[in-house]
This record gives sequence, C-alpha cells and structure tokens, in this order.
Amino acid sequence: MDNRDFGTALDMMRKAFRSGLTRSYTWRRGQLLALLRFLSECKKELSAAVFADLGKSEAETCLTEISFVAGEIRHALRHLRRWMRPACKGVPLHYLFGSAAVYPEPHGVVLIIGAWNYPLQLVLAPLVSALAAGNCAVLKPSESAPHTSALLARLAGIYLDRRAVSVVEGGVDETCALLEYRFDFIFYTGSRSGGREVMLAAARKIVPVALELGGKNPCIIDRDVNLGTAARRIVWAKFLNAGQTCLAPDYLLVHQDVEEGLLRYMYQAVIDFYGSDPALSPDYSRIVNDRHFTRLEQLVHGGNVVFGGQCDRASCYIAPTILRETGESPIMQEEIFGPLLPVLSYETIDQALAFIEERNNPLAVYLFSSCRATKNRVLHETRSGSFCCNDLLFQSAIHSLPFGGSGASGFGRYHGQAGFETFSSSRSVLFKTFFPDPGLRYPPYGPEKFSVLKSIVRFFG
Ligand code: NAD
Repeated sequence: MDNRDFGTALDMMRKAFRSGLTRSYTWRRGQLLALLRFLSECKKELSAAVFADLGKSEAETCLTEISFVAGEIRHALRHLRRWMRPACKGVPLHYLFGSAAVYPEPHGVVLIIGAWNYPLQLVLAPLVSALAAGNCAVLKPSESAPHTSALLARLAGIYLDRRAVSVVEGGVDETCALLEYRFDFIFYTGSRSGGREVMLAAARKIVPVALELGGKNPCIIDRDVNLGTAARRIVWAKFLNAGQTCLAPDYLLVHQDVEEGLLRYMYQAVIDFYGSDPALSPDYSRIVNDRHFTRLEQLVHGGNVVFGGQCDRASCYIAPTILRETGESPIMQEEIFGPLLPVLSYETIDQALAFIEERNNPLAVYLFSSCRATKNRVLHETRSGSFCCNDLLFQSAIHSLPFGGSGASGFGRYHGQAGFETFSSSRSVLFKTFFPDPGLRYPPYGPEKFSVLKSIVRFFG
C-alpha cells in the first residue's frame, strides 16, 4: 500500500469487508492456504531477510518463525469450521419459543503492528488469526527489521488477496499516521511506551486493542533439580536470538545451595552450544541496532560479570553473559531484552516469591523444581501471562495454549482458538417465534398483573 494514501486504500478494504468478501469459510481457508504457500515457497528469501536484520541463523528462523506460523495455519485449518460455528445457548422457559446463540463475527478492518525481534512471526501469527476470523488486515511490520518489512510488503500482495490484506512500511511517524485512521481492532506487539501511545490513539476513537508487551520474566531454580538439564534449557532459551525474546528468562533466582553448580553447568552449556568464541558461531544472533547495543553495553559495564561480557559495536555483537546481581542492581530495574542473564540467590522459597510479587506481572514465570509443594506454591502465588515448569518458551509453541501477558505485560490473547476469538466479536443472537405473545408482558400492569409477573420472574429467573 502507498504510504501517502492510507485513506483511499483503507476505504477500499472497508468496502471489500462490507461486501462480505472475507466472511465465507472458503475465502478464509483459501487465504490461509495461500499464506502457507508463501511461507513454503519463499522460505529462503524470508530466512535471508531475517538474517540481514538480526544475524539469525536459517535454522532458528525456520524453527521459531516460519515453522511456528505454518503450524498455526495448519492448526487453524483443522479447526476453522468448528470455531466459526455459532455456539447455541439455552432459552429460559418463560421466553419460549426461540433459539439463542453466540455468533463469532469478524471485527472488520484490523491493524496489526509488529515488533522487530521475531519480525515474521509477530505479524504473521496475528494475521493467521485475523484471516481465520474473517477480517481485512493492515500489517505494520517493524522498521527495526527493514529487510523483513520490505520483503513482506513486496510479497504479501502476490500471495494474499490484495483487497483484504496490505502492508504499510515505515517508522513511528508512519505508525502514528496510521493510528489517525479508524480501524475496527488494533493488535500491537512491542514496548510498553509504544503500547501506551497505541492505546491512547485507540481510546480517542473507542477502538478495542490487544497489547502484547514485555516484562522481566523470573526463573526460579530449586535445589532438588537436575542441574545439567536445567542449565542447558536456560542457556538455550536465554541466548536464542541473542536474548531478544519477550519470553526469555530475564533473571534467575537460584537456591543458594546450587548457585555455584548451576553457574558451572551454564558456562559449559554456552561453550557446547556456541563454542569458546560465540562471535564465530553461525547460530548466535546479533543485537538489532546501535541504540539497543549501547543500552546493553552500559548494563554490561555497570554489572558484575561472571563470564562473557565481550562487546563489539561494529558487528553489534554482545557475548552470552552471566552476571551476579542483587535486586537493586541497574540491570534489575528494566526488561533486559538482550544476552545478559543476572543471577540472584535465595535461601527460602518465600524470599523468591516475595521478590517476584514486588514487581510487575511478567509475561512468563519459570520454575525448575521436583517438589510438588513448591510447584503448587509458585503456580498459585505468582501472576503472569504463562507459567512453565522445568522448561522454558515451549508453553508458547503449543497452538492450543493462549498466548499473552498479564497486568503490565499486556492483555489480549492469541495463538490457536484464542487468536480466532480475539479477532472476532461475540454477537449475541436471539430468534423468536410470533407465538405465543401473552398480554402479561404489556402494560397496563396493575397490582394483579405485576404480582403474577414478579412470581414468574422469581420462579424462572
Ligand atoms: P519496535 O521498536 O519494533 O516497535 C514495535 C512497533 O511499534 C513498531 O512497528 C513501531 O513502529 C511501533 N511504535 C513504536 N513506538 C511507537 C509509538 N510511540 N507510537 C506508535 N507506534 C510506535 O519494537 P520494540 O517496541 O522495541 O519491541 C520490543 C518490546 O516488545 C520488548 O519489550 C519485548 O518484550 C516486547 N515484545 C513482546 C512480545 C509479546 O508477544 N508479548 C513479543 C515481542 C516483543
């Protein structure tokens, strides 16, 4: 779509939506299949674009972006007919005769604003939900992943129905210009500050939004676990995409008895995965841009590094870095969103829980433990968008588990059926017959009629 002419293009999409183009099962299925074909036929180009933006390996892009979105599409195709079906509801006896149901209806023309860290997944997975729910969609990929954004803009129109899907490129100014127009729903992924602006713009037009934001995800390591496995899983989840993953563990809370052992295993895992110089590893990503590099480099210099810490501005490289910190350290004040992992120790699980409770609700809480009581306590005494025990990130790979934040980490759910529901509005529908039509409901009421009505309402209500 021509950025200078949002208005005309939007009007055309709105007309397309009003014409009923996107409503049928056949159209929705066709678009999902077209998106699947796009992912399969353009795999190489997509991986190359993500590599140019983030230095992400082809394997990582395939596993965490392309295959994930393809899985979302297949899941939607399997269940779409059922999701689209109205849900029948009972009608109370005194309202007979009639039938009641909730119809999932598309919002209309929706805006999907994505972040740069998973530049494909974060616009295409919501697009799967939007198309499955029968919407037209405008995609606004992140300007911080310009190669991926340009590729999506170039190829989307070739594979998808141009009357219903378009891509707008540009930075914050273009996003703000888009927000001046009226959409029927806005789905935003990104930072809290950007989310606030999007929500303010949406509030001015009373448009519903979903905000997928970030937070500081804690990971508790109890003393009764297999430290080697825990270390490998933590290192994998933290340094995937160089730590630029919203669901990555932001910091570790380790039982003091196993802190030294865990650090040794984590050090070994970094070497096993990325070699003794991760800068040379084809599987280790780069920091997205100079601004984020500067922010992270300052945290490294102000921190208590246990291992790693090497930074190279020219190649936007920051080594996998583990630090020993306290709750007051600068690195513990904001979401890190990079390959720096602070480790804090605790003596009792109460201390660990109190530490988490004092902070904003994160996207995820992680726990490594073999103790049933500890698992129950951490599950029930913390709040977050998701919880995962003895592993990390995989809770978001299960298409039937809704994905989203809690409190300050955002609201609104997607993936699988949750995404279909987020991109639909529930319409309550009642079909009534003409008969019977008792005079009892109509005025004048009078004391006798009123008393009968009260009894009926009390009996059936
Ligand atoms: P970003 O800079 O790419 O911004 C995201 C989008 O918002 C872009 O399209 C940008 O144009 C737009 N934008 C930014 N500021 C804006 C403003 N003031 N007004 C209007 N639009 C604006 O990405 P980011 O914000 O750096 O993203 C990183 C954050 O996103 C991290 O906090 C991370 O945790 C979070 N994140 C969350 C999820 C999730 O699913 N919950 C996924 C990925 C990233």
